[in-house]
Amino acid sequence: MSIQIDKNKCIACQKCSNICPGNLIRIDQDQKAFIKCPQDCWGCTACLKECPSGAIKYFLGADIGGRGGSLFTQDHPNHIDWHFITKDSKNHKIQTKKDESNKY
Ligand code: SF4
Ligand code: SF4
Repeated sequence: MSIQIDKNKCIACQKCSNICPGNLIRIDQDQKAFIKCPQDCWGCTACLKECPSGAIKYFLGADIGGRGGSLFTQDHPNHIDWHFITKDSKNHKIQTKKDESNKY
């Protein structure tokens, strides 16, 4: 499992680097986030929940999407839209309420 951070979308809020339990996300000289050791990511998705700009893409394991599948989020005031993109490019959207985020 791993993530990728799009620096063009990153607004340098540093929320992801503060939340990652493995301290895997660092900040570069432009204050943008990057993942230093992607192979160490265990896919908790905490950084996706925190990112306000949808800059983080998570690559799905074979059991939930297979090769080429990915996941990204869209932040809204009271909820998060989770977009699962399967390898056949289908977009499956799931909505979660922020005040119930620990249920998931
Ligand atoms: S998915 Fe979890 S472990 Fe991986 S980079 Fe994000 S916060 Fe860290
Ligand atoms: S949470 Fe998103 S916008 Fe904020 S620093 Fe991380 S990648 Fe950039």
